[in-house]
Amino acid sequence: MTVTTSSEPSIVRMQKLNKHFGSLHVLNDIDLEITPGEVVVIIGASGSGKSTLIRCINGLEEFQSGTLTVDGNTLKPDGKSSKALQTIRTEVGMVFQQFNLFPHLSVIDNITLAPMKVRGWSRSDAVATAKRLLDRVGIADQADKYPSQLSGGQQQRVALARALAMEPRLMLFDEPTSALDPEMIGEVLDAMRELAKEGMTMVIVTHEMGFAREVADRIIFIHKGEIAEQGTPEEFFSAPKNDHTRSFLARVL
Ligand code: ADP
Ligand code: MG
Repeated sequence: MTVTTSSEPSIVRMQKLNKHFGSLHVLNDIDLEITPGEVVVIIGASGSGKSTLIRCINGLEEFQSGTLTVDGNTLKPDGKSSKALQTIRTEVGMVFQQFNLFPHLSVIDNITLAPMKVRGWSRSDAVATAKRLLDRVGIADQADKYPSQLSGGQQQRVALARALAMEPRLMLFDEPTSALDPEMIGEVLDAMRELAKEGMTMVIVTHEMGFAREVADRIIFIHKGEIAEQGTPEEFFSAPKNDHTRSFLARVL
């Protein structure tokens, strides 16, 4: 299945991408095209290569063969494309399972750091944007706290605001709610749902199947480093075709 149309160029184009960790072949001939505004959810068993796949998209992992173009910037195998890599890192936002906030910086400083350093914004512009984003994720009153003073759900919303402050063209999420207490999962998913509604292009690794079904335009199932199946949530959950997909769904639903 392809969602790409000729009128809309892909924001991500991965062709025959292969990634090895030593002798371990982690991604095997991955072809993936993502169009602007699309919300893609990646699911699969632990160790199947989901994190590695999205980490390749923002250049956190090198790959050994194939091509990868993100918003017109092409990364070559084995990291030989430093200019493209720099551009991609500023244009692709990422939210990790473990928040990864700077513990010694206040919430507001966590958010303003990159826009000031990388984009060259003035402090007042960066602070104004940060406050608007904190308001948007529902924690405007936490701006002067430090990460350790916040709940996990609040920290993850700061991480989201921090990524959005760079005005990314694409957002990657690697199990953003897996480290949260159950009562905090909803507030983070709500913020992501809003972002999807506003038209952000998003690639999300998650085990939240209800959320996936609701927000995804497309679901991709990874099995042992290969795309085993993909389709709309309706196709995917109601009529999975692949045996590995069926047994995975039987375990998690
Ligand atoms: P997932 O996110 O689906 O759980 P990962 O992409 O993290 O899977 O890992 C895929 C495979 O690659 C696993 O077998 C994992 O152990 C291995 N792997 C991941 N990162 C590294 C690394 N830095 N060095 C060596 N092996 C790794
Ligand atoms: Mg992972």
